[in-house]
Amino acid sequence: MFTDSHAHLSNHDVLSHIDSILSRASAAKVHKIVNICTDATTLREGLALKKRFPFIYTAAAATPHDVEKIGDQFFPIVSQAADEGDLIAIGETGLDYHYEHSNRSVQQEHLLRYFELAKRTQLPIIFHCRDAFADLFRLADRYYAGCAAVLHCFTGNEEEARGVIDRGWYLSVSGIVTFKKSENLRKALVLAPLDRLLTETDTPYLAPQSKRGKLNEPSYMVETVQMLGDIFGKSLDEMASITSTNAERFFSFSKRS
Ligand SMILES: [Zn+2]
Repeated sequence: MFTDSHAHLSNHDVLSHIDSILSRASAAKVHKIVNICTDATTLREGLALKKRFPFIYTAAAATPHDVEKIGDQFFPIVSQAADEGDLIAIGETGLDYHYEHSNRSVQQEHLLRYFELAKRTQLPIIFHCRDAFADLFRLADRYYAGCAAVLHCFTGNEEEARGVIDRGWYLSVSGIVTFKKSENLRKALVLAPLDRLLTETDTPYLAPQSKRGKLNEPSYMVETVQMLGDIFGKSLDEMASITSTNAERFFSFSKRS
């Protein structure tokens, strides 16, 4: 059994083929999927999807790219969904200094609001972080110390991996780990304790090596888990079981259903 800890199922391209995508996911034994909703529309679609498919769990927040545009309108909607028990996690939120689509100080301001919300509702956070680990660590140490988080689509170096692990957080591994050029990422991941690893597709983005260029989907995650197994000297089944157990511990699916 596999758990896809990060997929954008309410994106239009995915939603328009959702039945076939989810039946391929079941056939591949992907038995839980965390659907990341990043605006009012995808959250509304996501909550409707959850009603049809109970194995889908919903997370929401404005991405660091979008906070300047939609952050203020979307925050109260996320907050209400969290209060009503509709969310399994807050995210993806964080900092992206690579693209810097939103001003850095606005990204930080929204990150702090999401810290407060996660603490108040006792939900874990899903972080998106690109070229911004120093600020993420600094702000989290001050405002989110000791609280639960996962670094989604971790592609950092050894030092950043250590920073994540030292804070008690999880690393989520995407299809990028299967790319030929990802030698440094594979080296950084070796440092991670096995009980801190999650896996994800980031559907519809980042299809793994053998599917590059295609629309990604949860069933493609098997290739990522296989690679992770190769890194740690585990079989596919062992790695699937380890990462699904970790996901249950992190998200508490069974308590929140
Ligand atoms: Zn994402």
